[in-house]
Amino acid sequence: MTREVKDRMENMIRDIENEVAFTRRYIGKDKLDARVMEAMKTVPRHEFVPSNQQLLAYINGPLSIGHGQTISQPYIVALMTDMMNINSNSVVLEIGTGSGYQAAILSTLVKKVYSMEVIPELMESAQQTFAKLGYSNIECRLGDGHEGWPEHAPYDAIIVTAAAEQIPDALVEQLKPDGNLVIPVGPTYGPQDLLLVRKEQDGEITTRDVLAVAFVPLVRTGSRH
Ligand code: SAH
Repeated sequence: MTREVKDRMENMIRDIENEVAFTRRYIGKDKLDARVMEAMKTVPRHEFVPSNQQLLAYINGPLSIGHGQTISQPYIVALMTDMMNINSNSVVLEIGTGSGYQAAILSTLVKKVYSMEVIPELMESAQQTFAKLGYSNIECRLGDGHEGWPEHAPYDAIIVTAAAEQIPDALVEQLKPDGNLVIPVGPTYGPQDLLLVRKEQDGEITTRDVLAVAFVPLVRTGSRH
């Protein structure tokens, strides 16, 4: 990492810490998990954004990645990762591979990442980035995330990085007991509620509304053309 990238990265980390402190009332903590912040320091975000946005890669905001899609704001990536409550033995599912940045963050924290995407070009480009940077525990698949990825279920945690109209039943089914599903839910043109959906040990489902957010929609595969 060059000195310049390192400086920008350090600024990004400070911005995330400030926004976490600023939103502490909503998220219920002053600081995110140290391992999550460490992951944010190690993944080179500029490798996941288009070449014309290199200089913006470390600002604490969302960026366009083409195809009408965005790479989420770093603070939101860190917060959602923290909410998943994962460890190095976790097997997790991500819906919405996009640039691959969120999957790469997860890759450094867990045993295995399964990630689903509907736009083939984005999935292919993310896979190339994973190969280039050596993130070898991520498996991608094209498909509608509303259905989840039943073959590898149940998952220790699931993250959805596009806004659903409702919590998809399949994702709750594919979650392990004591597992967390982190998902923005609400109308297509936002704002949506970032929800922490927990499956308790006894199978009971509890939902906590954490923060108002704005995500691109989780589309139905049939509705794409
Ligand atoms: N996690 C990504 C954010 C991508 S934006 C990153 O770190 O860059 C949301 C992504 O969800 C888009 O790439 C979009 O194509 C994808 N998406 C939308 N609807 C989907 C669906 N039903 N199933 C899987 N992916 C979907």
